[in-house]
Amino acid sequence: MAGIWMEERGRTQMAEIMKGVHAPETFSNTFLLVDQRLILVDSGTAESGSKVLDYLRGIRMKPSDIGTIFITHTHPDHVGGLADVKRATPAKVAAHRIEADFISKKRTYTGPPGAERQRHPGTPVDILLDDGSVQDGLRVIFTPGHTTGSISLLDESRSLLIAGDAVSNESGLRPMDDRYNVDPRQHRASIKKLAGLAFENMVMGHGTPILGGASKQVNELAGRL
Ligand SMILES: [Zn+2]
Ligand SMILES: [Zn+2]
Repeated sequence: MAGIWMEERGRTQMAEIMKGVHAPETFSNTFLLVDQRLILVDSGTAESGSKVLDYLRGIRMKPSDIGTIFITHTHPDHVGGLADVKRATPAKVAAHRIEADFISKKRTYTGPPGAERQRHPGTPVDILLDDGSVQDGLRVIFTPGHTTGSISLLDESRSLLIAGDAVSNESGLRPMDDRYNVDPRQHRASIKKLAGLAFENMVMGHGTPILGGASKQVNELAGRL
């Protein structure tokens, strides 16, 4: 699994981690789902927008092919590249309705790491998501606690959970560092919620994808919380 993740295919930023799921090399992971539709999940830091666009060109797709950009939450390493990507595409932006006002800057997010880190240009959110709703074939799982309006996305066609920052897999599967969680208890409750779902594979904002047996690992983590 790690082998696939680390493999260099001529260019270091080329990484198809499973069929139709691409991870451009960005700080905090971003994902492109390539099917009949092209979907981007998260946009990395301010420097990442151009990397995502370069990656797209590398797989012979155009920014204008992107149908929807999902933003899992408003942290600078997930929303930072959004304005640059949006300039290149008419894609719609989708986020949880709580997080939407922070992404658009109608309101300033004051949770950790602080309002001063919310430097992204406000970008309007076109599609307001709720827990359980399905958008572009992805089921929205509301996983608050990291931020107030964090989401994870379940791609049932691939048995893939895109966790966002609901969980970290940097040096093992664990909660995110509580310095960055607005509500550590709620964050853990969200991990327990994810443990109630069945999925084989999981990718997340920070750390290595888990290909195979993923929900079992989340279950084990939830049991330790
Ligand atoms: Zn985060
Ligand atoms: Zn993050």
